[in-house]
Amino acid sequence: MSDVDQLAARIRETREPLRIVGGGTWLHGGGPWADALPLPLDHLRGVVEYTPGDLVITVAAGTTLAELAATTAEHAQMFALAPYGTPHATIGAVVATAAPAPLAFGDYTVRDLVLGVQVVTGRGDITRAGGRVVKNVAGFDLVRLHTGAFGTLGVITEVSLRLHARPAVDILVVSTLRRTDDGALGELLPQLVANRAPLPMLLHRAPDGVPQLWGRVSGNPARADALRQHLRAFGVVDAVDLPVERVDGPLHHTPHDAIVFRARTHRSDAVPFVRAGFEAFPHGTLTYDPARGSLRAVLPAAARDSFEHDLDTMHRLAAVNGAMHPISVVIDQGRSAAAPHSTPRTALEVGVKHALDPRDVLNRLAAISPTTLGHAHV
Ligand SMILES: Cc1cc2nc3c(=O)[nH]c(=O)nc-3n(C[C@H](O)[C@H](O)[C@H](O)COP(=O)(O)OP(=O)(O)OC[C@H]3O[C@@H](n4cnc5c(N)ncnc54)[C@H](O)[C@@H]3O)c2cc1C
Repeated sequence: MSDVDQLAARIRETREPLRIVGGGTWLHGGGPWADALPLPLDHLRGVVEYTPGDLVITVAAGTTLAELAATTAEHAQMFALAPYGTPHATIGAVVATAAPAPLAFGDYTVRDLVLGVQVVTGRGDITRAGGRVVKNVAGFDLVRLHTGAFGTLGVITEVSLRLHARPAVDILVVSTLRRTDDGALGELLPQLVANRAPLPMLLHRAPDGVPQLWGRVSGNPARADALRQHLRAFGVVDAVDLPVERVDGPLHHTPHDAIVFRARTHRSDAVPFVRAGFEAFPHGTLTYDPARGSLRAVLPAAARDSFEHDLDTMHRLAAVNGAMHPISVVIDQGRSAAAPHSTPRTALEVGVKHALDPRDVLNRLAAISPTTLGHAHV
């Protein structure tokens, strides 16, 4: 009996809910989750198939990002994303959570790079979606269904990924705003939003600090030079080159007790929206991704008591400053500690869940009090 067969048998036979555990580094994220028995995947590791000439690899879901990087580096290739979290994160979890990857090479997302998955459903069926090659037969896009389902529909046991050749130049250019007054943001943000160059960027502000612009410059030397010129045109100064790995520290590692949320609105509201976020959360680490119109805030645990009030302040200030569109807020971490924002499942979601996990044994959500439903600021 293979490891995957054994896993399927365990799911079929369980009488208790199970909590899927990859590297176990972000079990406190998402949810809130019901109590459940752990379902570890550390035995599902290693390369299943690797064809460097096709820039495609298939690995078992418990393979870590560090292991994937080491294997692909031997062929001067890479998985283009470095998602939030540590290199000990498993690829199965990265796909299951559709983990955002700031400053990703080529601005790719997880959904762009997953070609296929093997999944054991909550019924204990071993299923496959997509394929192990880039060109594939069309059909229902079940790969996208499992990508970002947080393990609520099945356990991802194997993942096929598209890879990229390592570029000759790949650096992070960190610069500061020439002026630090409010008007400087007002001038810069519309330019960032209008940017069409292949230049992943983030506006980053440490607690009570001066905003910095981070840009990932990659490609051959000529392309890298052109991208640098493009960055300079934004009127930023003191550009410092850092290896891309340096982004790890401040961006990727989040204290376990931090409250992490993402707020998003129409990009035309970037100026009032970002200003409102910076003002309402002076003690947070904030990053604005102009390509996605999304602001991520990492708040110290001490911000818990005033969180609801500060969120309201952000909404109010954005409106006062002239924002025209609603702001949606998703709490990624510390959901139950802050406010258990949640929305009920739609009829379609209920139907899909019933088809794949009718007993609700995989990654069961904790019941949320009806009084806290409808809290989401959308
Ligand atoms: C919006 C967002 C923000 C994030 N921010 C952070 C952050 O700030 N810091 C951080 O450390 N991480 C963060 N992550 C998570 C991170 O990017 C990776 O998903 C995580 O690092 C994976 O680590 P792990 O293998 O230890 O997963 P685990 O902690 O083991 O699991 C993470 C989640 O994925 C499920 N899961 C794991 N493996 C599978 C599988 N094979 N099949 C189905 N479900 C599975 C688990 O049940 C759990 O719900 C974020 C993810 C998202 C979506």
